[in-house]
Amino acid sequence: MAMAALRGPAGRFRWRVRAVPGGARGAAAGQQCYDLLVIGGGSGGLACAKEAAQLGKKVAVVDYVEPSPRGTRWGLGGTCVNVGCIPKKLMHQAALLGGSLHDASHFGWEVAQPVRHDWRKMAEAVQNYVKSLNWGHRVQLQDRKVKYFNFKASFVNKHTVCGVSKGGKEALLSAEHIVIATGGRPRYPTHIEGALEYGITSDDIFWLKESPGRTLVVGASYVALECAGFLTGLGLDTTVMMRSVPLRTFDQQMASLVTNHMASHGTRFLRGCIPLKVERLSDGQLQVTWVDLASDRKDTGTFDTVLWAVVFPVRGLPALSLVSRP
Ligand SMILES: Cc1cc2nc3c(=O)[nH]c(=O)nc-3n(C[C@H](O)[C@H](O)[C@H](O)COP(=O)(O)OP(=O)(O)OC[C@H]3O[C@@H](n4cnc5c(N)ncnc54)[C@H](O)[C@@H]3O)c2cc1C
Repeated sequence: MAMAALRGPAGRFRWRVRAVPGGARGAAAGQQCYDLLVIGGGSGGLACAKEAAQLGKKVAVVDYVEPSPRGTRWGLGGTCVNVGCIPKKLMHQAALLGGSLHDASHFGWEVAQPVRHDWRKMAEAVQNYVKSLNWGHRVQLQDRKVKYFNFKASFVNKHTVCGVSKGGKEALLSAEHIVIATGGRPRYPTHIEGALEYGITSDDIFWLKESPGRTLVVGASYVALECAGFLTGLGLDTTVMMRSVPLRTFDQQMASLVTNHMASHGTRFLRGCIPLKVERLSDGQLQVTWVDLASDRKDTGTFDTVLWAVVFPVRGLPALSLVSRP
């Protein structure tokens, strides 16, 4: 028997039983069996896998990074290590250092002016650090005897996963328990003309080789504000466009403190506006057309980069093919 996952009436997954040779737990020839199989090598998946291995279980982690629409890809460790907390904090640190350099002369430091920032150099250092963490995670798994597969996983049945490598090689992995820790990825507003074609997301910003230049950040999530914050701090002309309130689910008094602080450091805010389209001009710049919801007036602006940070959904289950394979 194999199980095909279907969405039940409550939106939850349920399993439809289908007959396949080998039985539900019958491992086919060449199939590798584990006590625990973890799909997703991010903060959650790695912690779970290492803990289980420590408790004496036979564990495997399957992790695969789907390249961003711009082609950005990265290694083991998930969002936090590669395109989240870590590179973000390093870029904030770069921005803070710039601020300190600016203040330093008032405290007697003789800093040659003008002080310039080299994005390429910073990005290289950040990316090298992230790569060292990717390596560190692989070593940690090895040390704990957790098997790592760089495979994209999809379910075959309740206890079996099919992993497909970048080169198309397939392997069947089965386990008594399978943990889904597939995290989330930013999403493009594909209904907006030019959004996917010309925009980037937080999946790309940390891996850009060149400075993003004049940037429009669309969204008011913490990802939007954090990216806008370090871009401003690095001296880049940065605008945040938001439809309604910043940091919607956060304490609004704190949210105002954050946006006021950012505005005082030079971030521009376009509130109550939504983008309508993005076009590339003949000089390579991106022209964004938006509407001000209060006045219904349309306006345009030109930018070098448009960064979408509109939604950050927990992709989890829908990202993973739960439909049984033939
Ligand atoms: C810009 C930014 C800044 C952030 N800053 C912070 C912060 O300061 N503090 C904080 O606590 N959090 C922060 N976060 C959030 C944090 O990064 C995430 O909450 C965390 O990384 C989620 O971990 P996870 O293990 O659930 O998923 P992820 O880290 O996303 O890992 C999931 C892994 O599963 C892989 N995967 C998905 N589907 C499959 C499949 N079918 N087969 C195999 N592998 C698959 C994915 O490619 C990925 O490698 C930030 C996020 C962003 C984007």
